[in-house]
Amino acid sequence: MRRTFALGCSLVGLVLLFAPFQAQSQVNSNTGTRIEEGKECPPGMTEVRPRSCSKPTMEPPSILDYRPRSTLVTVEHKVPKSKFPSIDYHGHPQGLTGSDEQLNQLADAMDRIGVKVMIAANNVSGENLKRSVALANANPRMKDRIRFLTGIDFRNVGPGWAERAVAQLEADVAAGAVGVGEVGKGFGLNTRRADGTRLQIDDPQLDPVWQAAARLGIPVFIHTADPQEFWQPIDNKNERWLELALFPGRRYSTETSPSFEHLMTERDNLIKRNPKTTFIIAHMGWHANDLPRLAKMMDEMPNMLTEVGAVLYDIGRQPRAAHDFFVKYQDRILFGKDSFQPEEYPYYWRVFETRDDYFDYYRPYHAFWKLYGIDLPDAVLKKVYYQNALRITKGIPTAGFPK
Ligand SMILES: [Zn+2]
Repeated sequence: MRRTFALGCSLVGLVLLFAPFQAQSQVNSNTGTRIEEGKECPPGMTEVRPRSCSKPTMEPPSILDYRPRSTLVTVEHKVPKSKFPSIDYHGHPQGLTGSDEQLNQLADAMDRIGVKVMIAANNVSGENLKRSVALANANPRMKDRIRFLTGIDFRNVGPGWAERAVAQLEADVAAGAVGVGEVGKGFGLNTRRADGTRLQIDDPQLDPVWQAAARLGIPVFIHTADPQEFWQPIDNKNERWLELALFPGRRYSTETSPSFEHLMTERDNLIKRNPKTTFIIAHMGWHANDLPRLAKMMDEMPNMLTEVGAVLYDIGRQPRAAHDFFVKYQDRILFGKDSFQPEEYPYYWRVFETRDDYFDYYRPYHAFWKLYGIDLPDAVLKKVYYQNALRITKGIPTAGFPK
């Protein structure tokens, strides 16, 4: 009995002794691929030890289906409403400004998220503007809570265009418009002049209109281009692969469109050649992923402000750098959201107001990474949420905003 037992034990011992070797050799059968210093593993493999590549023993999920549960245990501060009343400078309350009933729905939605004033950035001009203003003025809940930006018709720029555009701008400001915008991304990308050539963003024929904006004391809210990755090859290195695969219309070819840098250069020329005009560049100019560049622009162009719509994924992935940037340029940043989805605003409040770690963004196709709170001081929050907007924009009611 004793011997059998001993034999049994040593057999178990042998099996145990060999098991790790077996497992090891299985792993080794998946590796086998050595790479040189600085090189990447072949497709389907990943670096498991320095310069040694291995492939998973199971079929990997696609990037669509890989949604790991985070095991991080950490404090969470959900922020359903902005801490201070906010102004959405990049408002597109589509379908909610056309009737009294819709305006009441808009008021309800704004109340839920803490937005006190909506700046409708839909280029409403002429009779449409007058109708929109009249409708808002007749609604007791919204008359002090919505203001409109007017549009400039950039079609057919040529002789006589500037005079007509300036006259329209003056009429629209008289009718209640508080600024220009949103100048859309088509300006620069595909708007054509009367002679059929591409209208450059810094075309001198447009200068009378920008100068009229300065004279009238109204800001120009302008969106130029798109994220830089939209011009890059759609491959495994592209941060926006999923978005570009979901929305093929967002890809640009430098053969048919000006390059990202070309458009940025024209935009900067526009701002520099019209130093008396206040420009607000939407989406942080698509430089939220390059804050040193945006900081340099802030320093070089004192007539430029920026707005944070739709780039929360870049702000929230660099909480320390973003915090410092917002503190340093606290007089030059406006809150704006772009697409009006009330349930998405709380993500902005959480990033700006908390120091929460590693939480989800609202659109996985924008960003496969997590967000962190940048913990802005109250004085900075007030500026970003409403004080900067009130300072640069005549005609927004100030009642109800804290001093
Ligand atoms: Zn917009």
